[in-house]
Amino acid sequence: MRVAIIGGGCAAAGALEILGANPKIQEIVVFEAASHWGGRAWTRKVDEAYFDMGPQFVQDPGVTISDADPTLKGTDLPETANPWLKIIKKLNTANLSNFTCLQIDPTTYYRVPDGAGGWQDVFTTNDINQVNNTIDTDFQFAATKPNLPASVTYQSGGPFAGTVHLALGSNGYGPIAESVETWQYIAADSDRQVAPAGEQPNIYVAPGIGDVVGLYMNVLTNPAEGSSCAITGNLKTKVLSIQQGSNQIKIDTENGSFYGFDFCIVTISPYALANIAFTPPLPAEKIKALKYIGLGNYKKIGIYADNIPESIKMNTEYYTIDLDGQSCWQYFRNPHFKNLLIGVASGNFARTLETMDKEQVRDRFTAVIKSRYGDVTLNITDWAVTNWANEPRIGGAYSYTIADGGPADDPFPLQARDLLQTTHQNIFFAGEADWTEAYGTIHGAYYSGQRAANALLNRL
Ligand SMILES: Cc1cc2nc3c(=O)[nH]c(=O)nc-3n(C[C@H](O)[C@H](O)[C@H](O)COP(=O)(O)OP(=O)(O)OC[C@H]3O[C@@H](n4cnc5c(N)ncnc54)[C@H](O)[C@@H]3O)c2cc1C
Repeated sequence: MRVAIIGGGCAAAGALEILGANPKIQEIVVFEAASHWGGRAWTRKVDEAYFDMGPQFVQDPGVTISDADPTLKGTDLPETANPWLKIIKKLNTANLSNFTCLQIDPTTYYRVPDGAGGWQDVFTTNDINQVNNTIDTDFQFAATKPNLPASVTYQSGGPFAGTVHLALGSNGYGPIAESVETWQYIAADSDRQVAPAGEQPNIYVAPGIGDVVGLYMNVLTNPAEGSSCAITGNLKTKVLSIQQGSNQIKIDTENGSFYGFDFCIVTISPYALANIAFTPPLPAEKIKALKYIGLGNYKKIGIYADNIPESIKMNTEYYTIDLDGQSCWQYFRNPHFKNLLIGVASGNFARTLETMDKEQVRDRFTAVIKSRYGDVTLNITDWAVTNWANEPRIGGAYSYTIADGGPADDPFPLQARDLLQTTHQNIFFAGEADWTEAYGTIHGAYYSGQRAANALLNRL
């Protein structure tokens, strides 16, 4: 059997791992539009540090950090461990062997100007927990009325009380996708970092998640000699159309056409999927489903400087209001590179930042740091800013469910992810957006790729 895989990110890795090891598959060709493997998992060198433009931590690790530490040779990870931690162990690469977690500094949780030239703390951990609980209640309600209008009124106190957008569902942490408002994001993120009872905090990997995924794709696309499956990885090969004939599939790319596939697995984001021409066309329900899955905004900036204020401590996360008095930055030193300061913005604020030049974003973030830390001017030697929303092969950071204001009991929005994964003749679908248990994650994407590969094998 000959199989084509479209996309070369975490979902593709999950599919390739299974198909490449199955003797019924003789050949696999992977098509990736970018010049690197990993998709949204992409690590860039910023001066001497590694900066993750995309995912930076293993969320829902399923093990404690000491259990996961890859320097502990020979320790098998328990079944519950996040698959990417298992992959890191399998890769057994010395320069990946460093994990850490971030802590929240509970005394400087969230700061706003005090009106007298100084700053005051607004939220404490308890406040954040209350915000989180309220969102949880909202979500439980929304789950029974899935097609709620896109905005709800949030009554609790704090600077962001009022009408906000509610994005539905993202893993065990409740209603949050990072496509939502600033304070919702804060609550969700703190929940992950501090880890509720019975769960483990996020794990940061050195040098970066992008390098892990890229390395794994390199290993998978270069199987050992004697392998029963021939695998070809084509970078810089954007797929334009997929045509299913009477028994074979033809794929047109920017670099020419490829013929004779028995099956195809498409692992690209819903946004990118809408730009591929299918013959026969995708069913109307699937096209409708694509309209209910948006790609949210999550903006990251990495700044390398040797004079980051000492009061920004290692392994500690901070939140500070933006100069506009409304929006909020999360920031911290990269836990593995103390001279790399990372700023993160989410929701509508991130959407606004995505429309700005990267220099403007850098200046806005550094102005906040300057104002917050006694007029410090950072000695910036290198920096990078993400802009996933304007990357046509992705279209945003990660998926969220769009409630479109229709009848409240219409279940369609919550079915959209399931419809995204339905098979279209000999074409299977995968990607973070259709792993309903943990979409918007590297493990969700990987599991979705495995599911598509197993469904394909079940057809043989
Ligand atoms: C800023 C940011 C921070 C994140 N943080 C975390 C985190 O900390 N932890 C976590 O678990 N998750 C995080 N995520 C989410 C995680 O990155 C994604 O869920 C996951 O990487 C998605 O993998 P995927 O394979 O489904 O899709 P992708 O990574 O998008 O892979 C699809 C690939 O298809 C390619 N492609 C698209 N169109 C075409 C075409 N026409 N032809 C050929 N190739 C094409 C794309 O270039 C891409 O490489 C983050 C994401 C972002 C953007």
